[in-house]
Amino acid sequence: NQKVVLITGCSSGIGLALAARIAKDEKKRFMVYATMRNLSKGEALVEAAGRTLGRTLEIKQLDVCDENSIKDTSTPFGSVNAGMGMIGPIECQSIDEMKTVMDTNFFGLVRLLKEVLPDMKRRKKGHIVVISSVMGIQGILFNDVYAASKFAVEGFCESLAVQALRFNLNISLIEPGPVITEFERKVYEEGLKTDLSKADKVTADMFTNIYLKNYKQIFETLGQSSEDVAEHTHKIITMDNPPFRHQTNTLYTPMTTLKYADPNGDLPIDTFYKMVFEHDKVFNASLNFLKLLRWRSRKSFTMEKDKSN
Ligand code: NAD
Repeated sequence: NQKVVLITGCSSGIGLALAARIAKDEKKRFMVYATMRNLSKGEALVEAAGRTLGRTLEIKQLDVCDENSIKDTSTPFGSVNAGMGMIGPIECQSIDEMKTVMDTNFFGLVRLLKEVLPDMKRRKKGHIVVISSVMGIQGILFNDVYAASKFAVEGFCESLAVQALRFNLNISLIEPGPVITEFERKVYEEGLKTDLSKADKVTADMFTNIYLKNYKQIFETLGQSSEDVAEHTHKIITMDNPPFRHQTNTLYTPMTTLKYADPNGDLPIDTFYKMVFEHDKVFNASLNFLKLLRWRSRKSFTMEKDKSN
């Protein structure tokens, strides 16, 4: 009575780690269809899969940007991971490059769900697990188009989630912070190659001397491994009542909490600004944030106490 899990983008990073982790499920509850755009890049997955290959894991071809390769995909369970990043000032990026990011990260998910959702509805069984990002809830400097693609993913899934409930289906968005994968390396290298001639001096300087300079450090201090994200995702997949959203990086959670702490939306923008441009003020900003959190938790504690009296 194995559940079929289809995962996209399994030749590297989170998809690879996730495919291997689910195939190695202690209770052998899953049959993994680990898919990738280009089958010739399957070597690392074959190695990670080990003895599960041909038993609880099969490798298949799937390009999320090609409807023909998605056709006839039917699965009671699902997991969408394939994605790409893009950084830099928008005046230096072409609309075509931006469209490729949207096409992969957003329409890739839409294409797959259009194919598998009707079947899932008929069976009233399934769990759509989407690798989103903390950038699906919060924009980050110079990640404008990437964040937009993940916001699109989140809005799409949040809208579908209500309908899914009616069919007993679950949807979960996995929201990692920085993860050390090929993704990070590719994005950084592409970033270094950005032709900044179309950007003004202040913007070009901000991108090169502030953003790119801190990029590696952010991944070094906050970065998680793919295996860690896979472990979190495996837990979500095996839960009876999986949550709609799950952040995998507790070190990053305080940043996303800023968004919910201020309905006006200024607190996170202000804090990011200070982090980037006024390093010395970050300490005070963090302190204010902690005070706010303490105030909120004290308030809810008092409310709980009031209720029990
Ligand atoms: P990665 O580059 O190692 O993996 C992405 C995979 O998607 C690659 O194997 C790539 O070949 C595949 N892919 C790209 N276009 C495809 C297409 N059209 N069809 C099929 N496969 C395609 O990077 P990763 O970090 O493992 O990224 C996986 C997911 O995690 C992405 O959705 C990414 O947005 C998300 N994410 C990554 C980070 C991070 O810091 N690395 C953080 C949060 C979320």
